[in-house]
Amino acid sequence: MKYLLPFVLLTSLLCPVVRGQGPAVSGNETKVRAVLSNLNQIYPHDWRFVILEEKAWNSVHNKSTEIAFTVRALRTTYIRESFLTTSTIPELRHVMLHEAGHIACACENEHTAELFAQLRQ
Ligand SMILES: [Zn+2]
Repeated sequence: MKYLLPFVLLTSLLCPVVRGQGPAVSGNETKVRAVLSNLNQIYPHDWRFVILEEKAWNSVHNKSTEIAFTVRALRTTYIRESFLTTSTIPELRHVMLHEAGHIACACENEHTAELFAQLRQ
């Protein structure tokens, strides 16, 4: 985490963020917005999504995930662009529910986040 935080802070500053109703999304946002619109406002209205290109993703020191991660302190969820472009809507929905699980439990526990996602599929 100590290597990750400076990176995400920098990324948060560099990535343009589109603001509208509800959570903000940067980058290739169409698919994320489509899923968000069916999640019944499960994310806080001021939450942000940042889509990371491969180079940015690979520079993240913490490799505990290959798809997405959430930094609650920054109220931001980061999604790997290559996953975004290849995933189906149900796959992306599951990942976004899982990340919402981390927000809901205010924890890093993968089992709790996964249970949250599975209960809402
Ligand atoms: Zn997780």
